[in-house]
Amino acid sequence: MIHAHTKSPAQTKDIGAALAKIAKPGDLLILIGDLGAGKTTFAQGFAAGLGITKQVSSPTFTLASEYQGRLLLHHLDVFRLEHLSEVLDLDLFELLDGDNVTLIEWGNMIRQTLPTDYLEIAFTFTNSLETSPDERTIILQPTGNRWQNRANTLSETLQPWITR
Ligand code: ADP
Ligand code: MG
Repeated sequence: MIHAHTKSPAQTKDIGAALAKIAKPGDLLILIGDLGAGKTTFAQGFAAGLGITKQVSSPTFTLASEYQGRLLLHHLDVFRLEHLSEVLDLDLFELLDGDNVTLIEWGNMIRQTLPTDYLEIAFTFTNSLETSPDERTIILQPTGNRWQNRANTLSETLQPWITR
């Protein structure tokens, strides 16, 4: 488990961009955390790190958006119940097949349908919103061999933001 710390939306985007640099075809990242915790902000940085210039928006009203960069990015948000049922109809394994990488906001809600390998990224408010509204702690948990084998690369990549 890796704990990273960010003090601004820009830093959260930098973390996303840094992770995008080590992303491989078929990777799945699930983004967890309350509304406003920073999942979409992270996704925007991740997209930028893949060389995507198009603005990545919150996929609240659409289940999934696609953006072409170094890899094809699938950005999903399963928060809405209708999305949840749509995603159960959707073949996630097919989505993950090929030269693409998938980010799923609220992916914990569909954990039982996920493949065994993914990187879980949890966004939490470091302190109370009143005292430090722009601080977030990001907890990364590699699940399955695909990410556990990259644990060293992961911690090297995140070194600038790792708190001790
Ligand atoms: P989510 O997708 O988790 O609901 P968003 O990324 O859409 O969250 O929203 C996060 C909000 O919090 C944005 O308004 C962003 O500007 C603000 N914010 C403040 N500090 C941070 C930070 N360190 N990281 C990410 N977002 C932050
Ligand atoms: Mg969001």
